[in-house]
Amino acid sequence: MTAVIPMVKMRRATDRPGVAEFVSRCNAFVDEVLLPLERTFLQGSFRAMKPDLDRARRESRARGLWAPWVPAEHGGLGLTLPEYALVSAALGRSPLGHYACNCQAPDVGNMELLMSHGTDDQRARWLAPLVSGAIRSGFSMTEPEFAGSNPVHMETSAVRKGDQYVINGHKWFTSSADGAAFLIVMAVTNPDAKPHQRASQIIVPSDTPGVTRVRNVKTMGEAGDDWASHAEMRYENVSVPIANRIGDEGAGFALAQERLGPGRIHHCMRWIGICERAIELMLRHASRRLLSPGHPLGEKQVVQHWLAECKAEVEAARLLVLHCAQQIHDHGAKEARMHVSLIKFHTAGVLQRVLDKAIQVHGGLGITDDTPLAYWFRHERAARIYDGPDEVHKGQVARAMLKPYGIKAE
Ligand SMILES: Cc1cc2nc3c(=O)[nH]c(=O)nc-3n(C[C@H](O)[C@H](O)[C@H](O)COP(=O)(O)OP(=O)(O)OC[C@H]3O[C@@H](n4cnc5c(N)ncnc54)[C@H](O)[C@@H]3O)c2cc1C
Repeated sequence: MTAVIPMVKMRRATDRPGVAEFVSRCNAFVDEVLLPLERTFLQGSFRAMKPDLDRARRESRARGLWAPWVPAEHGGLGLTLPEYALVSAALGRSPLGHYACNCQAPDVGNMELLMSHGTDDQRARWLAPLVSGAIRSGFSMTEPEFAGSNPVHMETSAVRKGDQYVINGHKWFTSSADGAAFLIVMAVTNPDAKPHQRASQIIVPSDTPGVTRVRNVKTMGEAGDDWASHAEMRYENVSVPIANRIGDEGAGFALAQERLGPGRIHHCMRWIGICERAIELMLRHASRRLLSPGHPLGEKQVVQHWLAECKAEVEAARLLVLHCAQQIHDHGAKEARMHVSLIKFHTAGVLQRVLDKAIQVHGGLGITDDTPLAYWFRHERAARIYDGPDEVHKGQVARAMLKPYGIKAE
């Protein structure tokens, strides 16, 4: 296994500030613009906050923070993956950070897909308005009836009829489908091919007849709305042009894998940002909460140990993720596959442990929505499941470790 090298190559272009300064501008944006919106976000609906969020988006543009990961030729700032990783952590300190700068999932993954594999027409029609923030999108792959952790196992079909695909299928956990202009649907186009070459990714405009958003699935007590939701979808005789397919027929699985490499860096660094914020909140609470006159909570050794343990876990995870980002940058997502799996399950676990300790330090306050801790605790439990459950990634790492010893994969 390659050793972890605590180093990020920070490219410094002459026409923009260095990355360290850029990250500090992101932190200032979060502190000045987004944290004041947080209480409203935690108490109400995402859609009701749209006017405030639109203002925040205008402000992020004005501050030169818009679409940081998108190459300049497509209208973004063109940060490299290791650079963007640092930005993702800074924005992760607020649940609204990525949305405000138009680098939120699932849109950012769909942008990447269209940038790498979209045709000129697809880019003009779908990528340009995504990058400008005029529309949103979703990625519709997981099906309720099939184990999502085996992505080649699915039933949704896309059958050729003239110059159209006719799509039929049932999906769920299509994040942010509510209000999305289009969905990228994974469907079987080549049922007789090898398992990894059966499916294709097809752009389906949301207003196509036969597309039904059945419901926003209630998760951890909340159905959510708009971008902050996960939909159950039905596709019934949905007819779209064959020209809406992204990449080659049967390449859907390969494209999905490609999308997940950088996507896991984005998520892991966002989780590091959440951990940083949780530690900030712990420090503030431990220093202000008096257990008796003149004796703040932070004097207790157990709290000091929790703080130290959280700090150690977060700093170690950060180095691991930055190392992985550099590996992807230098060698590509495929070569870095083992590192990607390592950070995915490890950082998700760190996130869960840090949030749990932060809530404990806050006592009853930690359970309320007066801080973002409970929101993250509810919604980021899923970090150990989406983009591959822990067990799948642990298996991937262990198989890579055992391979030189002649142990075959399960
Ligand atoms: C919040 C959230 C957002 C999501 N967003 C999207 C989205 O936008 N688009 C989309 O298409 N999907 C999305 N998903 C779906 C997600 O990708 C799947 O939930 C994930 O792939 C797991 O599939 P599953 O839920 O069917 O679990 P299953 O595959 O049924 O797995 C159940 C459990 O079995 C265990 N397990 C699975 N495989 C193995 C193995 N090989 N070895 C040992 N144990 C194993 C794991 O513990 C796992 O949690 C989202 C999910 C969540 C929770």
